[in-house]
Amino acid sequence: MVEKSAIRILVLDDEPFMLKLLSHMLAKLEFTSVMTCDCGRVALESFDSPNGPPELILLDLNMPEMDGVEFVRHLVERLFTGSLILISGEDERMLQAAVKLVQAHKIPVLGHLHKPVKPEELAELLEKWTAPSLGSPRAAKKVYGADEVRAAIANGELVNYYQPKVAVATGKVVGVETLVRWRHPQDGMVFPDQFIGVAEANGLIDDLTRVVLDGALAQIKSWEAAGLTLRVAVNVSMDNLISLDFVDFVATQTAAAGVSPKSVVLEVTESRLMQDTRAALEILTRLRLKRFKLSIDDFGTGNSSLAQLRDIPFDELKIDQSFVHGAWANKTLRAMYDASLSLGRQLDMEVVAEGVEDLDDWHLLSLTGCDLAQGYFIARPMPADELSGWIKVWQVRLAEELLVVKERS
Ligand code: C2E
Ligand code: CA
Ligand code: CA
Repeated sequence: MVEKSAIRILVLDDEPFMLKLLSHMLAKLEFTSVMTCDCGRVALESFDSPNGPPELILLDLNMPEMDGVEFVRHLVERLFTGSLILISGEDERMLQAAVKLVQAHKIPVLGHLHKPVKPEELAELLEKWTAPSLGSPRAAKKVYGADEVRAAIANGELVNYYQPKVAVATGKVVGVETLVRWRHPQDGMVFPDQFIGVAEANGLIDDLTRVVLDGALAQIKSWEAAGLTLRVAVNVSMDNLISLDFVDFVATQTAAAGVSPKSVVLEVTESRLMQDTRAALEILTRLRLKRFKLSIDDFGTGNSSLAQLRDIPFDELKIDQSFVHGAWANKTLRAMYDASLSLGRQLDMEVVAEGVEDLDDWHLLSLTGCDLAQGYFIARPMPADELSGWIKVWQVRLAEELLVVKERS
């Protein structure tokens, strides 16, 4: 166990009063290895002392000489490995912007505090930080190599999970999204963020998509045989949209499986800026001509969301989860959510809200008339054979909680 008193903390603020106040609060919380500094330049110089750089910095954003954002840039240059708490008298949006900026540099931010700082808020942030990390450093996420991912695809270690999409007005389960998982023989369940990027970077994404699509098509048939008609979505990477063969490949597989293209939704993410969008445009337009359904995923997070909406005939718009969860209580998120919903409406698209995590989120969708909902509140992604059991449970929940809630409101 690391003692709180051994954690090296730096408080950086140009106001001497704040320095005194914060170190007093820290001392009360038993953090006693605290250094204070009223200027960024001097703080950086202190990193070269025998003690080395601090493990945690409480950083004021507004400082006359070197401001907090500039200070962060110096931290990045020095490969700073500690964490930050941002402090400012600025409004919430300004603080959130600063937090995002620091996180983009891969420096962990424990949180932000408004001036005047309340001791209990500081205590809460520090509690969150020390509780899991004392004594047991978090295990780093494993990064897999191209050969491992190639072998996983070849050996059939990838499995499809499915997450329901439900109609908000009626609760009806209209479809599912296919989310790939890797059942690793040693490491257990591995999530896509640990191997999709590797597959894309090493020319393996076409093979991966083929396996996922084949599995999804077979699944549509077997649900159909059990009396379940579902639209099944598959995620398509921008790297799938480079070669024109992709159209034939999707069309051939779908026909061979005996599935109607109308039952297949292709979810396209726009988070990566494409050098040449002509091929992607052509591929998507041709797939749409063949009656596949096109969905624009993570809407609003990329660089060209509006341009893509203009150029590609999408059937479905998925509002990114970062604009959905908590939008009922946050003015900024709510504006993004409303704008995305209205855009989808005006372009006659079906709108799906992702990241519906609780009843308040669900309520917002219902209030604003969003078409479809997807998220942990409804169901986590699950293996195919759990779906029919889940639907039964869902129907009970609908009758007892959700539709009742709607009637009351
Ligand atoms: P995505 O397409 O945006 O998928 C939604 C992700 O959000 C999934 O993560 C899902 O498990 C998660 N999620 C669902 N509901 C909630 C919620 O209420 N709250 C929160 N916080 N998260 C929720 P997952 O399965 O880890 O997939 C991550 C990403 O990996 C996907 O994001 C998709 O871009 C990519 N991916 C997954 N399967 C495939 C695939 O077969 N091919 C390709 N190219 N990409 C895939
Ligand atoms: Ca998706
Ligand atoms: Ca998404």
